[in-house]
Parts: sequence; C-alpha cells; structure tokens
Amino acid sequence: MKKYDYVLVGSGLYSGVFAYLARQKGKKCLVVEKRDHMGGNIYCEETEGIHVHRYGAHIFHTSNKKIWQFVNELAEFNRYTNSPVANFKGEMYNMPFNMNTFSRMWGISTPAEAKAKIEEQKASITGEPRNLEEQAISLVGKDIYEKLVKGYTEKQWGRDCKDLPAFIIKRLPVRFTYDNNYFNDLYQGIPIGGYNVIIEKLFEGCDMEMGVDYLENKEYYDGLGDRVIYTGTIDGYYGYRFGKLEYRSLRFETQVVDIDNYQGVAVVNYTDRETPYTRIIEHKHFEFGTQPKSVITREYSVDWSEGMEPYYPVNDEKNQELFQKYAALAEKEDHVIFGGRLGEYKYYDMDKVIESAMSRADKEFG
Ligand SMILES: Cc1cc2nc3c(=O)[nH]c(=O)nc-3n(C[C@H](O)[C@H](O)[C@H](O)COP(=O)(O)OP(=O)(O)OC[C@H]3O[C@@H](n4cnc5c(N)ncnc54)[C@H](O)[C@@H]3O)c2cc1C
Repeated sequence: MKKYDYVLVGSGLYSGVFAYLARQKGKKCLVVEKRDHMGGNIYCEETEGIHVHRYGAHIFHTSNKKIWQFVNELAEFNRYTNSPVANFKGEMYNMPFNMNTFSRMWGISTPAEAKAKIEEQKASITGEPRNLEEQAISLVGKDIYEKLVKGYTEKQWGRDCKDLPAFIIKRLPVRFTYDNNYFNDLYQGIPIGGYNVIIEKLFEGCDMEMGVDYLENKEYYDGLGDRVIYTGTIDGYYGYRFGKLEYRSLRFETQVVDIDNYQGVAVVNYTDRETPYTRIIEHKHFEFGTQPKSVITREYSVDWSEGMEPYYPVNDEKNQELFQKYAALAEKEDHVIFGGRLGEYKYYDMDKVIESAMSRADKEFG
C-alpha cells in the first residue's frame, strides 16, 4: 500500500481545489512544489503591510453562483470593482470604452452623439479588414484606436498593428452607459486578507514539500502515491519529446514608494507606444489600504524564452497541434491526471480553473 492517495505536483489553485475536495473524502495528499511558497500565480507577498500580487494583478470575478459560494466559504470577499484607467500621454480615460471615455474624448454627452461619432470614424474602412489596425478601426473608429488600442496592443505583441492579423481582435466591447465596471460578471471582489488566506485553507491537512522539482525526482514521488495530479507543463512532463510549447511572458518591476496614494486606482494602462511598460498596478487599492507607503509594479510584456515564467499559452495553430500530440499521450495515462493552465496548456481565469478541478474531483470521487 502506498503512503498517499494523491501526490499533487504544484500548489496553485487547481491543485488546491482538488486537494481540498480529496481531503473532505478522507484522502491522504502530498503536495510537491518547486517554488519556495505555495499558491502558484495567485500568491501574494506582504510588503509594507500590503498584499502584493507577485505574479500579476488578480481580480476574482465569476457568474457561476456555485463557484462564488465555494470561494466565499474559504474567505470573505471585499467590494472591489475593477475599473482600470488608461493613460495616453497624460490624458486619462475610463475603461472599458464607455460613455465616460467618449465624453472625455469628444466632449459629447449622450449615447446618440457617441454612436454617431464612432459610425463616422468607422466609415474610413471599407471591405474586409486586412490587418489588426483596420479591424480595430472598423470596430471602434480612429480616435479610440489611436489613443487607446494601438500602442498598448503593439507593446503586448511586440509588433506593429499593421503587421498583426485582424483575427486577434474579434470584438472590442463598447458600452453606451456611464459604467466603468470592467467585468460583466455577476460577482467580483478580492479575498479579505489576500489570496493566501484561500490557499492556506485549500491545502490544510496536506503534507507539503516546497522547493522540490517533481520531474527531477519523478520515480521517487510516483512511488509515494496511488495517483499523481500534475499541474506543471505538459511538454516538460514528456521531456519535450515532440518540441517545446510557446508562451508569452511578463516582466514585473516592483517598487515601494514613499507616498500613501500613487495613482488613485489599482490599475493604470499606459496606452502610448513610447512608455515601455503596459501598465502600473498599485496593490493597496485592491483592498482599500490606508498604509503610509505604497507598492507599485510596472508590468512589461515580453517574449518568452527558456528559464522565464510561462504566463500565457500561445494558442495558435502551430502550438495547438503540438499540444494535441502531448494530450494524446496524457489520455493514455491511468496513473496521472493533467490539470490547470500548464497541464492543459490553456488560459484559465480563476473561476474556470476551480470549476475544472471540481469536475475532475467529481469524476474521481463520484
Ligand atoms: C498575469 C496574470 C494575471 C491574471 N489575472 C487574473 C485575474 O485577474 N482573474 C482571474 O480570474 N484569473 C487571472 N489569471 C489566471 C490565474 O492566474 C489562473 O487561473 C490560476 O492561477 C491557475 O492556477 P493553476 O493551478 O492552473 O496554475 P499555477 O498557479 O501556475 O500553479 C502551478 C504550480 O505548479 C508548480 N510547478 C510547475 N511545475 C512543477 C514541477 N515540475 N514540480 C513542482 N512544482 C511544479 C508551479 O511552480 C506553480 O506553483 C491571471 C494569470 C496571469 C498569468
């Protein structure tokens, strides 16, 4: 008989939810994590009494009542509503594109005036858009494209909008109401006390080993458990035998500033091409912090290369094809379950990763 029912590789949200549900069924779990802390990308680090989102800003939002109830059993959520602001060369615009944005841009006041302005500016594109620039103008008109879409998108992709394919932007949400709430979901907020509160509850009762790369000691850990829940990279699991999957990465520059309120909002997007970073996060605003100092993070969009944190899977045709080869191998495994954003090579919001781990646990425990 093996010592554990499950060996969980990685201590992110997927593993956490699975472990929590497994523990409720009396299963014994060992968690192996290569970082020196648990929580995966939702981990928060405390600096100056502020919970700093070390791997990028995380705002919980969902329309799924079951998931909302589940996370609220783990932590109480505050009333944070994401309302980012765009800074274009010092001009400040509300996001997402809504009546506040249009009023600031054109000095207009009614939805009819805003619609007429956009229609007039869209008219410059006739026929099928040939690139991302034409596509964006055909959706929101020239002014919004030039001030709020162009520079930001070029920084994100590292290429000129004229050289990017039109299909990248299928739609650009436009709202003809004075509503700055970024998300359309029914529920949103930040866990009071930060995401670590949730993570600690999820892994309660599990044995944990930090700073251990499972792949370097695979046989040993496989020998400890009946089944493995693997949330690392799927190509890494198979020794990259068909080639490496690609990602987009981010670089964060975090700084303590000697001022209690640096930018007045959690997220400011820099939408001009010249500012090298895409946004600045001021972490205290996620939790309405009143500390005397503040912590800000400049976020840069960068190409991913070996040794960097793989943030966003590149789900283009080439990478999807490669992923399918690995997925075919994974399907044949009866001892290992692949899950989460790296195991499934898929961008998952937090609510979706919880949903996925829950449905997997349902299959396991009935
Ligand atoms: C920049 C950014 C911002 C985001 N913002 C939001 C947001 O605002 N709202 C939202 O809902 N979602 C957001 N997300 C998505 C959210 O981060 C994910 O849904 C969630 O973190 C995925 O959890 P996971 O368990 O699948 O993966 P992860 O959190 O990546 O956990 C995987 C863990 O496995 C460990 N691991 C990997 N390989 C090994 C190995 N060989 N041995 C041991 N350990 C290993 C890793 O170190 C990591 O800790 C954002 C994502 C990013 C990248």
